[in-house]
Amino acid sequence: MSVEIVLATHNQHKVEEFQRLVSRDVPGITVLGYDGPEPVEDGTSFSENALIKARVAAAHTGSIALADDSGIGVDILGGAPGIFSARWAGLQHDSSANLALLLDQLHDVHEEHRSAWFACHLALVVPPGIPGMEPFEHVAVGTWHGALATEPAGTNGFGYDPAFIPNGDHRTAAQLSPAEKNELSHRAIAFRELVPVLRGLLPAPSATS
Ligand code: IMP
Repeated sequence: MSVEIVLATHNQHKVEEFQRLVSRDVPGITVLGYDGPEPVEDGTSFSENALIKARVAAAHTGSIALADDSGIGVDILGGAPGIFSARWAGLQHDSSANLALLLDQLHDVHEEHRSAWFACHLALVVPPGIPGMEPFEHVAVGTWHGALATEPAGTNGFGYDPAFIPNGDHRTAAQLSPAEKNELSHRAIAFRELVPVLRGLLPAPSATS
């Protein structure tokens, strides 16, 4: 019997991405979508916001829940935009405006001071009442290090990808193929860290099997 996990997002692309990753690396776990309430993300860190979302989904469904929170941080800005990445240029959550504002703010900052990172925090919440499991919470963290370009480049990806040059490359994340980004990204790093925890949710094989 498969173990079911609810993904606490209304974003169907994220559900499909996690379904693909989980079925590849942890067969035996099924990732389900979620259409319950979405909480106010009023935490002060990526981990807190991911936990807020996963806890609400676990409480609402009674199932194991997974939630992600992600964004970009620029060292010379003290880690901003950080948790404000989605609304850096205002509450309209306009990703082109967010990108343009960030590049404007750094227009006179020299290359050696443009270090930046993408972060993804994945929170897993096992609520009370799941047969055979003790309740627990775990947050897996993935950080992808790089630098901000001076001009946006590339058409793949989304959000801040056209301005982010991963360390060891000269292309922006929006110039990587989707397959390359899926291997290297902050989400890939966080997911790899989570895999052993997800495998621990599966029943131990019986001695006779
Ligand atoms: P969320 O985790 O989908 O809410 O994303 C938060 C913000 O971070 C959004 O503004 C995204 O554009 C940005 N962001 C998160 N991950 C990425 C990425 O892989 N590429 C570009 N932008 C990202």
